[in-house]
Amino acid sequence: MYATRMERLGTETAFEVLARAKQLEKEGRNIVHLEIGEPDFDTPKFICDAAVDALRSGYTHYGPSAGLPEVRAGIAEYISRTRGMEFDAENVVVTPGAKPIIFFSLMACVNEGDEVIFPDPAFPIYESMVNFLGAKPVPLRLREENAFGVDVEELASLITDKTRFLILNSPANPTGGTIGKKDLEAIADLVRDRDLFVLSDEIYSRILYDGEHHSISTFPGMKDKTIILDGHSKTYAMTGWRLGYGVMNRELSAHVTRLMTNSNSCTNLFVQRAGLAALEGPQDEVTAMVAEFRRRRDVIVDGLNAIPGFSCLRPEGAFYAFPNVKALPISSRELARDLLDEAGVAALSGTAFGAAGDGYLRFSYANSVENIETALSRIHQHLVEKSLAP
Ligand code: PMP
Repeated sequence: MYATRMERLGTETAFEVLARAKQLEKEGRNIVHLEIGEPDFDTPKFICDAAVDALRSGYTHYGPSAGLPEVRAGIAEYISRTRGMEFDAENVVVTPGAKPIIFFSLMACVNEGDEVIFPDPAFPIYESMVNFLGAKPVPLRLREENAFGVDVEELASLITDKTRFLILNSPANPTGGTIGKKDLEAIADLVRDRDLFVLSDEIYSRILYDGEHHSISTFPGMKDKTIILDGHSKTYAMTGWRLGYGVMNRELSAHVTRLMTNSNSCTNLFVQRAGLAALEGPQDEVTAMVAEFRRRRDVIVDGLNAIPGFSCLRPEGAFYAFPNVKALPISSRELARDLLDEAGVAALSGTAFGAAGDGYLRFSYANSVENIETALSRIHQHLVEKSLAP
């Protein structure tokens, strides 16, 4: 009765768990929310003020599908400065959140039957979209013993003449792992002469605790093959505003713009104006948020490692902890369910991020230290009560 393609479309479990947690709260339960990947901070006030000013100044109409010219130029300037490679406004397409860039870039570049390599575990929308488009999903395992980085040799073994698209994400959701400069260079060497595109999901580029962020787009021959995905959701605590963008070669940006015309028409104009103010204004609140995320990271990682049966690497970026729970006599899926239903801790099973996530849990630590500590003690107590601790 419905289109068969809908059977191939996946989902993002975080939103389902959030809905279930909200339902439990309605029933009077107390839940600590560590499921959804969004900063708990308010959007900086000067950004809100810019949106209000824009609303009052008439930014309430339709605008160009690719984004307001001054906003595209501002994003091009920001990406050029932060990545160390020149881009101009024509390279930029502004979208309602960064998520549509995944959908649009795949739609524009991938035919049915083409092979798409994407990390596993990873943001579930990658695999969902690849399947939806009838392309062949080729998972690239990210291994804990490799700090959830990319094993370049393993990647090389997955590339075939049918590979049309490679997805990279650094810093990564759900592991917090990163891909270092050397590995990016080796990946660039692998794909430079191939007829394929790289979607470089850099949405967590500013939430990095050690070292510098590197983009594969900056290596020789990679600029025109790379689509940089970034946006304001995480960096400026603007998840609900829906503001993101892709930076890509001009031909591709024209295709993605046409997809915008056919779907959203354009991104909300007063949100775009606020987003420009965010890029051009003081960045001290971003610095403060990242410092606070680092403090929370240490609290949650140390706390998880103190729980029998849990073992957790210290992530280098993003705001997720991804502990290994394979030592427990329960699957990660069942444990995530029980933690929500019985212990009042909303977290996600690693399986929400691909088959390789089995045996892991994902906790978003974009929550207060107090709430994180409550969650840690609830988890510990749950394991003791259920005699699950090894
Ligand atoms: N990529 C990754 C890896 C993400 O984690 C997210 C959000 N959870 C997005 C893209 C999408 O961001 P947005 O909310 O701006 O659409």
